[in-house]
This record gives sequence, C-alpha cells and structure tokens, in this order.
Amino acid sequence: MPNNSLRLILILGSLAVCGVLLFQSFWLIETWSIKNEEFDATVIKSLRKVAVKIADVNKSELPKSNLIQKRSASYAVNVNSAIDANILEDFLVRTFDEASLNTAFTYAVYDCANNQLEYENYCNLSAGQDTYEKGQNLPTFDDLIYYFVISFPKRSRYLINDLRTNVMFSIITIFAVFIFMYAIYVILKQQKVTDLQKDFINNMTHEFKTPISSIKIASDVIINAEGVKSAPRISQYAAIIKDQNNRLNNQVEKVLNIARLEKDQFKLNLEIIELVDFIKKLMRLEKLKFDENNGFLCLSTEEQNVFIKADRLHLTNVLSNILENAIKYCDKSSDVQFELIKRNNKAILKIKDNGIGIEKENIKKLFDKFYRVSTGNVHNVKGFGLGLYYVKNICDAHGWKIDVHSKIKSGTTFTIEIETIKN
Ligand code: ATP
Ligand code: MG
Repeated sequence: MPNNSLRLILILGSLAVCGVLLFQSFWLIETWSIKNEEFDATVIKSLRKVAVKIADVNKSELPKSNLIQKRSASYAVNVNSAIDANILEDFLVRTFDEASLNTAFTYAVYDCANNQLEYENYCNLSAGQDTYEKGQNLPTFDDLIYYFVISFPKRSRYLINDLRTNVMFSIITIFAVFIFMYAIYVILKQQKVTDLQKDFINNMTHEFKTPISSIKIASDVIINAEGVKSAPRISQYAAIIKDQNNRLNNQVEKVLNIARLEKDQFKLNLEIIELVDFIKKLMRLEKLKFDENNGFLCLSTEEQNVFIKADRLHLTNVLSNILENAIKYCDKSSDVQFELIKRNNKAILKIKDNGIGIEKENIKKLFDKFYRVSTGNVHNVKGFGLGLYYVKNICDAHGWKIDVHSKIKSGTTFTIEIETIKN
C-alpha cells in the first residue's frame, strides 16, 4: 500500500477512535448526571411522602416552603413537629422500598433541647451484610428546629451499579482502542521494514547496472577481436558471457521497472500506436526465442488500422512478459498465437499458449506481487513473481482490462481489452 494512503488511513482511523472516545466519555458523563438527578428526584419525592405521613401522625401542618433542603450529599426534612425516631425509620424504610431505592441510608433527628442530632441510625436496604460506623457527621441546619437529616453513604456505588452496562461498553471501547493502537504500531513497524527492503533492493539493482554495462562492452570487444574469432572455444565462452549478461540485465530491469512503478512519480508516455503493425514488429523481435525450441509465434487477425493510445515501452514489456511466461511455463515446444479483433470501440487482444496451464484456484492470485505457482517438482523454472504484477499494473494505468483463462496441460490465454481511438 502506498505510504500516503497508509498515512491517510491511520490519520482517519485515529480521528475516528478519538471521536468514539470523546462520544463515549460524553455519554458516560451525561448518563451519570441524569442518574444523579433521577436519584435526587426519587429521594425528594419519597421524603415528601414521609413528611406527610409524620404530619398526619402528629396532626400538624407542614411548612409551605423549603420542606426539604439539600446540603452536599445530605437532605434535611423540616417536618415542623416532634419526630418519633422509630416511626420515622419505619416510614423511611417503607417509602424507599416502594420507590425501589435499594441502598443504605443513615438518618438522625435534630433535638432542639440539646441543639444536636440524636437517634442516629443506619439502615441497609440492599441485599448482603455490611457494617457501618456511627458518627458520620451528618450536618445540622441552623435555620430549622424540628427536622431530621438523611444521607446515603453508598450513593456513588449504587449509581455506578446502575450504570453497569454503560461502564462495560466503555471498558470494551477502551480495550478496542488499545488493540487499534497496537495494530497501528505493528503496521508502522512493518511499513518501515518494507520501505527499508524496497530501498535496499532498488539501491542494489542500481549498483548492478554499471558492472553489467561494463561487462557488455567488454564481451562485445572480446567477441569482435580478431584473435578470438579464430579461436572457437574462446568465442563460445565470450558468447556465453554476453548471453548471461543480457539475462542479468533483463532481471535487473524488471526489478527497476517495478520500483519505478511503485514510485508516485510514475507517468505514462502515451502515443498513438497502430496495434497490428506493432504486434508484427514485436513478433519479429521475439521470434528468435521461439525458434530456439522449435516453437512458433503467429498472429491471427482480419483487422487493420487498430489505433490505440499507449506507452510504447510499457506495452512492449507487457507483451514480452506474457510471451516469456509462455516459453518458460511450457514443457514442449511452445506455440503462441496472438488474436486480435475489434468490437465496438475496443480492441480485444488474446495471447494463447500451449503451456502447462494454471489451476483455477491459483488464477486469482496470479497478478499478486511475488506470487509464483508452487510447482513442487514439476518444473524448476526460476523467476521473481514480478512479471504479471508489472503487466497488471501497466494495464490498470492505461485503463485496460486483463483476464486469464487457463486449462491445466492445455494452455493459458491472456485477454487484454484496449480502448481504441478513431483514425
Ligand atoms: P518473473 O516474471 O518475475 O521472472 P515469474 O515468471 O515466476 O517471474 P510471473 O510472470 O508474475 O512471475 O508469473 C507468476 C506465476 O504464474 C509463474 O510463477 C507461473 O507459475 C504462473 N504463470 C504465468 N504465466 C503462465 C503461463 N503462461 N502458463 C503457466 N503458468 C504461468
Ligand atoms: Mg514471468
């Protein structure tokens, strides 16, 4: 994947993760404050009921305003008449139970004679046992005379318990974020290794170019030297050096072509080409290779003047790669046929060989970088697995469609659909 796309994906991914985290935090804070408000509302409603019951018992009147006051986590209920602590506890337990407020509470009654809170008690409505130390400093309210104070020491725990699902979602989200961050770390590390590898291969192949050119010049000089022409053995060795040097040059060129292709500055040099003529010329150049193993290369077409827009060098390389494979992956003399037909505004070029063929399940991976069909011991042809990757990239860059059909032991057909231009 190109570095820029990777960077864009990582930036977008990180933004999305930050968004999810922000939204999650906002959602949690919002739910927490709603639950707090709900708790307050339920407590106040229940305490009002308790105050009414006490007023009924005492046959007294409740104050018109400020019946319930809240200070930090405690509530004072101004009943305006004497309070019996036993009755109060009973009323509190029943009313909280009705309101499903199943949490512990502590209460105390203000004794105006002593000027302090008396009859402090702790009740736990939730399941399970717990201990509570008295003297939790319930606040006094100076402006009130007959009142009781109540507070909920386990309020936060009760609310958190209520938010269980939300908290669980938050934990899962945080876990997912950590996994995402780890994945980013691994991807970046991997990318760095891949970049280093690419740089290394590019530099290395570039370094090969100078010695290859020197060997080429030297071998030409040796082959053409007077003394060598008359010595057949030396002449033969010189030809081998030249031949092998050409092979090496082709391989280096292949790797360099891929490197150029993967660089962002890759640009096609488009020109108008007449395809029939182009293929005939290419066949003349490639024919030698087919002659070597008694194969043949032919073109079957009734078309004339098929004009396309293409990069001449890359188109030559594409067809050469396919022809090279046709020879390489063939266990007899290789026969290859070009077929060209024009349909609507498309030129359909088929390259049919009589090679070993490719299994159906391998065809979809054929254009992958470094992919080679695992051949076991069937044949020992060497290669980088870059030829068809290059072919596919060039076809894509031109906007051409390439397809492969193959039958094991019968041969393979590559079909390229090329946009034609009007002549
Ligand atoms: P390179 O072209 O880089 O020297 P290569 O020939 O192995 O190496 P590709 O040209 O990309 O790589 O081909 C990929 C694989 O597809 C080959 O290894 C071969 O197994 C299979 N293949 C390609 N063309 C043919 C064909 N015409 N017939 C049978 N198998 C083929
Ligand atoms: Mg190849």
